[in-house]
Amino acid sequence: MPKQDPTDRTSGYLKKNLETMPHQKRVEYLNQKLRGIVQYAYKNSVAFRNKLDSVSLKPKDIQTVQDLEKIPITKKADLIELQKKNPPFGGFEGVPITEIRRIFISPGPIYEPGENDYNDLGWAQGMYAAGFRAGDIAINTFSYHMVPFALQMVDNSLHMIGCITIPTGVGNTEQQVNILKNLKVNAFCGTPSFLLSIAEKAEEMGLDLRKDLCLRVGFVAAEMLPESLRSKLEEKFGMTIRQSYGTADVRCLGYECIRKNGMHIPDDKIVEIVDPETGKPLGPGRMGEVVATTFNKVYPLIRFGTGDLSILTETPCPCGRTSPRLIKIMGRVDQATKVKGLFIHPGQVDEVVLKHPQIEKCQVVVTRRAEKDEMTFRIELKEEAPQPEKLKEEIEKSIRDVTKIRGEARFVPKGTIREGAKKIEDQRTWE
Ligand SMILES: [Zn+2]
Repeated sequence: MPKQDPTDRTSGYLKKNLETMPHQKRVEYLNQKLRGIVQYAYKNSVAFRNKLDSVSLKPKDIQTVQDLEKIPITKKADLIELQKKNPPFGGFEGVPITEIRRIFISPGPIYEPGENDYNDLGWAQGMYAAGFRAGDIAINTFSYHMVPFALQMVDNSLHMIGCITIPTGVGNTEQQVNILKNLKVNAFCGTPSFLLSIAEKAEEMGLDLRKDLCLRVGFVAAEMLPESLRSKLEEKFGMTIRQSYGTADVRCLGYECIRKNGMHIPDDKIVEIVDPETGKPLGPGRMGEVVATTFNKVYPLIRFGTGDLSILTETPCPCGRTSPRLIKIMGRVDQATKVKGLFIHPGQVDEVVLKHPQIEKCQVVVTRRAEKDEMTFRIELKEEAPQPEKLKEEIEKSIRDVTKIRGEARFVPKGTIREGAKKIEDQRTWE
């Protein structure tokens, strides 16, 4: 292990040679890993072999990441269906069942195999990038029951860095506060909302969060992390909080570094952003579905559709890591609407609204005129704007910035948008 200043939580890498690979080297590295897992999975995973056979492909047809688009995407619903027919893992496993140590159960139900020697890098890279260091005492408040996250992934990842884990799981907030205090815990793993509960409980118990507790770093996942909540928690505890993203099936797919600049894709995954309708990869800057390929031989999921929407960026990150990043998770595919060839999502509507405090209510209406899509933001203002034309222009600029589509901002009288109205109403008809 490289010598590291134990007090420096803001620089360094868990796996420097991987994390700082130059672009061309990364491309070659991923292509080589991809060829390896495709060959392995074709030989050892019934479900993957069936999938390739169904489109008359052989492993030799998949040489580079660009070839991936030939392979049909496996959706969560497909996984559930195939697991029902062929329990527990639907033939997706790449080793004999006797070599599996645990069977985890996620909502669906979906079963996930747990291997003996967990070596998936992503979450550990995320913790390291968030400032976790060897010797840290970390409380793991994710649920240890049924689902694989706390036990299989977080626990093992903390161990990979050299942290000491306290496996508390969820709940028992008062006891958790006492553990934080008595054991001088300096690292937190859990959901942002649970960290907030801990803060509130500790304050109720009369503790000074900065003086009586020692939390320095936090690794959060499994929930959206609004910036307002992050800064509130960071301020309260005097700690740094970074988030990661992934799924129970394919594990970590993105982690924030100290620069808080989107989520770096771990080096042992391939993440594509694709058009959810066609499965075709989209370039950086376009919103689409997150589709993941892992190199995990125990459970080699290749082109797994997460159902989550995100945008990819390849602009360099000042932290020195060279992997592309997911800008953020925008929401679920099934809530998105395609307009002028691009997907827009309720989360983006909220983002536009947030930029303009004058807006009381907003609804997007998508219509079609002369064979063209039109997008209108119907807006109720809190009070009449002194310069409506100027505000209209500003909002239309925000719409363009956020959605990458031209849309009209139209002010409507209060009460026009009914309670419980859909945030995006698609009024297009197709004959
Ligand atoms: Zn970075």
